[in-house]
Amino acid sequence: MNLQNFLLSFILFLPLAIHGQKQKMKPEATEVWDPEPRVVSPGEGTAPPSDAIVLFDGVSTAAWESAKTGGAIEWQVADNAMTVVKGTGPIRTKQAFGDIQLHLEWRTPAEIVGNGQGRGNSGIFLQGLYEVQVLDSYRNRTYSNGQAASIYKQHIPLVNACRAPDEWQTYDIIYNAPRFNKDGMVISPARVTVIQNGILVQNNVELRGPTTYIGLPKYKAHENGPIILQDHGNPVSFRNIWIREL
Ligand code: MG
Repeated sequence: MNLQNFLLSFILFLPLAIHGQKQKMKPEATEVWDPEPRVVSPGEGTAPPSDAIVLFDGVSTAAWESAKTGGAIEWQVADNAMTVVKGTGPIRTKQAFGDIQLHLEWRTPAEIVGNGQGRGNSGIFLQGLYEVQVLDSYRNRTYSNGQAASIYKQHIPLVNACRAPDEWQTYDIIYNAPRFNKDGMVISPARVTVIQNGILVQNNVELRGPTTYIGLPKYKAHENGPIILQDHGNPVSFRNIWIREL
C-alpha cells in the first residue's frame, strides 16, 4: 500500500472507527455523581430559603446599623416594614459580603411628591459602592440610566417593570464582586443580574466602577462590604430582606 492509498483508507474508515467507539461507550460513562449539590429547602410562600441570612424579617433590625452614626438605625419600623426617615442617613448591614444573591421588597410612597429623581428615591448599594436604583418610575420620566432598576448612571434597565406607588415590588439580585490583584488592578469587574417583579431587568451586566453622581466611575481595590440602603429624603419602605452568600 502506498502512502496515498493508506491515507485514503484512513479517511474512509475513520467514521466507522468513531461509530464503533460510540457503540462501546455506555451512557453511564458520562454521568457525574460527585460533588453532589447540598440540599437547600425553598421557603414556604415568601419565606426565605433554608440557607439564607435573614437581614430583615419585618421586626428585628439587629442586622443593621446607621451608616451615619454607626449606632442603631433611626428609620421607622412598623407594619412589617422599615421606612426611610429623612435626614437620619443611610443604613448598612453589620456584616460585609462578597458574591451574593439578594432578595428584597420595596415600596414607594402612596402620596406622590416630586418628580424625576425626587420621587420615591432610594437605592441598594452592593458592597456599599454599586447602586441598584430604587425610584418611583411608574409614569415618572427621568434619565433612563437613573430610573428604577438602573445600575445608576451605568446601565439602563431592559424594560420598565415598575408597579404603581404604594405597591410592594421585588428585587432579586445576583451579584459577583470584582476581583483585584495584589497591586490593586481589576482582574474581573463586578457583574450584576437584577430581576424586578419576576422580570429580567439587568442581564449579567459589567460594572465600570463604583457609582458616581458626577463624573466617570473608576475602580479602587476593596474588600467585602455591607449592603447599604439609601436615604434620599423620600419615605421609601423595605421588607422581607434576605441574602445568600455564593
Ligand atoms: Mg437612589
